[in-house]
Amino acid sequence: MRRIILFSLCIMTLASCNKRGARPEDNPLVEEWNTPFGVPPFDLIESRHYEPAVEYAMSQHLAEIDAIADNADEPTFENVILAYDNSGELLSDVALTFEMVCSADKDDVLQAAEERLMPRLAAHYDEILLNEKLFDRIRALYDKRDALGLDDRQMRLLTKTYDAFVRAGALLDADSKKRLKEINAELSQASVKFGSNLLAENNNFVLELTGDKLDGLPSGVRDAAAAQAESIGRKGKWVFTLHKPSLIPFLTYSTERDLRERMYKAYINRCSNGDGYDNRAVVNDFIRLRTEKAHLLGYKSYADYVVSDQMAGDKKNVYALLDRIWTPALERAEGELAEMEELFKRDVPDGTFESWDWWYYAEKLRKKNYSLDEEMLKPYFALENVRHGIFFLANRLYGLTFRPVQQPAYNDECSAFTVSDADDTHLGVLYFDFFPREGKGGGAWCGYFREPTYPNGIRKAPVVGIVCNFTRPVGSAPALLTSDEVSTLFHEFGHALHFLFSDTTYRGLLNVEGDFVELPSQIMENWAFEPEMLKNYATHYRSGEVIPRSLVDKLRRTSLFNQGFATTELVAAALSDMDIHSLEKYDGAIDVDAFEYTALNEKRGLIPQIEPRYRYPYFSHIFDGGYSAGYYFYIWAEVLDKDAFEAFRESGDLFDRRTADRFRREVLERGGSDDGMNLYRAFRGAEPDKTPLLKARGLWTEPAETEETDADGLQLSVPNDNARIIE
Ligand SMILES: [Zn+2]
Repeated sequence: MRRIILFSLCIMTLASCNKRGARPEDNPLVEEWNTPFGVPPFDLIESRHYEPAVEYAMSQHLAEIDAIADNADEPTFENVILAYDNSGELLSDVALTFEMVCSADKDDVLQAAEERLMPRLAAHYDEILLNEKLFDRIRALYDKRDALGLDDRQMRLLTKTYDAFVRAGALLDADSKKRLKEINAELSQASVKFGSNLLAENNNFVLELTGDKLDGLPSGVRDAAAAQAESIGRKGKWVFTLHKPSLIPFLTYSTERDLRERMYKAYINRCSNGDGYDNRAVVNDFIRLRTEKAHLLGYKSYADYVVSDQMAGDKKNVYALLDRIWTPALERAEGELAEMEELFKRDVPDGTFESWDWWYYAEKLRKKNYSLDEEMLKPYFALENVRHGIFFLANRLYGLTFRPVQQPAYNDECSAFTVSDADDTHLGVLYFDFFPREGKGGGAWCGYFREPTYPNGIRKAPVVGIVCNFTRPVGSAPALLTSDEVSTLFHEFGHALHFLFSDTTYRGLLNVEGDFVELPSQIMENWAFEPEMLKNYATHYRSGEVIPRSLVDKLRRTSLFNQGFATTELVAAALSDMDIHSLEKYDGAIDVDAFEYTALNEKRGLIPQIEPRYRYPYFSHIFDGGYSAGYYFYIWAEVLDKDAFEAFRESGDLFDRRTADRFRREVLERGGSDDGMNLYRAFRGAEPDKTPLLKARGLWTEPAETEETDADGLQLSVPNDNARIIE
């Protein structure tokens, strides 16, 4: 996922924000960052520096805003829109760095600072977006925009700025604005609470085993569990946790069915155990507040509010896509289950196949049908080699060069690279932070420490970070990645390239629609397991031997394996997100477990052997992660990325420079300087077609001879109301 940091969406009011803060003494965050390439001066920064730095930067920002709002001159593009775009640079640098470090390396000081600062930051942006004097000047320009002689980008910036104020409530009356600020304040507090409960629950559970309980676990998994035990003072034991690199191998390989059940239940019951970390009431707070907010802003539901600003434009387009995929995915998953049940019955003749059996029997089935298991692949996916692979790909496609640099970092485990364009222009700095540790959130993401800026119209390069939770190296062996982890690294690297290439002239044009965000990332995953790509990076970590053709073939043959399950759990999560945010009124407590069951199992026939990828109490994306009513973004963007990758296939060369140049020029460089669909059309010459996505997930059925087909032989089974994406 890309970490979307939208302070303007989670806002509150605090009178003290109005104080003009004094510059904190001896605080490296607010001094000029005199570092190579302008990276944050991590060698000087201590956790205690962030809070006063953010406070001070907010006060500086407000002073800049007041100067724009109070300017007695006639409003012009320069003295309002451009000045607004240039304001708050210090705050952006300090707050982005703070957020990145909080998500990857939180300690008690940062935790306390975050709890205090997030509501204050939210209130800060509320104060600006609901500043009437400022909005009057923006509106004056907006109303006569066609007479201003603006170029395309200036017009886009003016429109986006105006829209952002309107979406934040600038047109509301005084009472509604007051209520909106209160709502935003509460939402921001709910967000912090949700995140800290989940972080605690992720760390609260450990499964400690003795040597007689390790049956089925490969040696690498045992070694990692032994190292985990040692790290918490339990040498001689084996410890498993709810972090994915520990949980998934355990579910995949352990022959101890009751222990798999214990692990799995601990995972899916996080934050719903009726104790101090229970998030079900917090979920209710979110829905109550978001529904009220949507009503204040003139929308029926929060999902309507969110989607109106996306490529999809309307909820019915989102549902049409999800529904189109749901039924064939579920049917496919049921087929997969039937195959696994045969194996299961041999082991447990009287038992019922349960959700914690899926990984274990899927792996058995994969071995049986394809004689392939993950452990055979891992030696070819040493982390260093995979990183070499993504650099190689960026070089082949775009001519980029990555050079390691010794840079200060927030944690010693980080590494950093400078990124140079084909003509050696500096594009930015890229940090990597690969391994799980306490204080780091789950999953993987990519974000800015420093956005690109345009002082005097010249691009100042950004500083970008990729954060993951990959399997740690054990003993003398390097970190060996699973195929999922390989995909994840390609994915996050795609976000990084998008950030590094962005060249939008104005900061306010950086952001793209949410359902466009995952196109640059997901398209990179398409290369990961292509034979032409594998031979350039998948070499055995000991022998240096390139991955053998037989293994590559097996890998290709398994590309559709278990896709019914993967698609079903993904779409289930997208549907449960869309459903709960589509509530048009909140009338009392929602039983979130019952709501999920009704939406997925009763209404849509989800089978009990599959849980949605995320359940509400730990659905971080949609509650504290910026993807509310937006988990569908991944699937929407997958239509785009699979169709875009076809352009490379059609060129006859997966590394075709001309196609890559066009993708960079029309998509990656342009940020949000035009609507996503316009950018896409400029690259592809047409709107995206769903067929490549359906084929990639094994959900495509060839049309019958008699069935009506269009000129390209495509099945016309998709309802026309989602024509925005398939036309
Ligand atoms: Zn992503």
